[in-house]
Amino acid sequence: MRFEIITIFPHILDSYLNESILKRAQKKKLIKINFHDPRQFATDAHRSVDDRPFGGGPGMLIKIEPLYKTLKKIKRAKKSHVILFDPAGQRFDQKMAQKFSKLDQLIMIAGRYEGVDARIEKFIDEKISIGPYVLSGGELPAAVVVEAVSRLLPGVLGDDQSAVEETFSGDDSYIEHPHYTRPEVFAYLEKGQKKKLAVPKVLLSGNHKEIKKWRANHIK
Ligand code: SAM
Repeated sequence: MRFEIITIFPHILDSYLNESILKRAQKKKLIKINFHDPRQFATDAHRSVDDRPFGGGPGMLIKIEPLYKTLKKIKRAKKSHVILFDPAGQRFDQKMAQKFSKLDQLIMIAGRYEGVDARIEKFIDEKISIGPYVLSGGELPAAVVVEAVSRLLPGVLGDDQSAVEETFSGDDSYIEHPHYTRPEVFAYLEKGQKKKLAVPKVLLSGNHKEIKKWRANHIK
């Protein structure tokens, strides 16, 4: 699957997207992440892509021409979808991640400053928000979408079953059970008193039927 991120800061996610699972997924060619800088289509000497909003008000907006030209330049795959990040857009969730994971290509426009010229909406499929708060740009939302979608692609996780049995997988209301690892008993001090936290015994029993039952009854 191809992710295309349109941003005026094409290196801002370099470190994050090139570590761990996403690094491996790119190396195995399961995903490709391309960055497209609208500045390539800036026409003035300063290569500016922003301008003041009509009607006044604070801040600057990313202009429509460089965004439009960037979108046009991206070679479209058969199953392709264009989203614009917007704090007031459709809320991104696991269901949406599952829907996006069936695509060949997801094109994402990251806004900056006060946002983008609203006329770009004619050339997108939907506006997406990653939550009810305002960030300074759409790059972190793009990283969130890339990671949530990539995890659902076959071969990306070490064990594909990990994504099947995860919180929100399948039915929205599914919450995974808690997990424990060694040591079996964790000792710590609280107000000078020795305290212990033990792992539930059943998880150490080797009885898979009982473990399954315990997990079904112990959601987080
Ligand atoms: N003036 C805009 C408003 O009041 O809605 C906020 C613009 S924000 C500072 C700049 C850009 O960051 C937005 O255009 C959008 O692309 C991105 N952004 C900020 N918060 C976001 C969120 N919660 N989800 C998705 N994108 C977000």
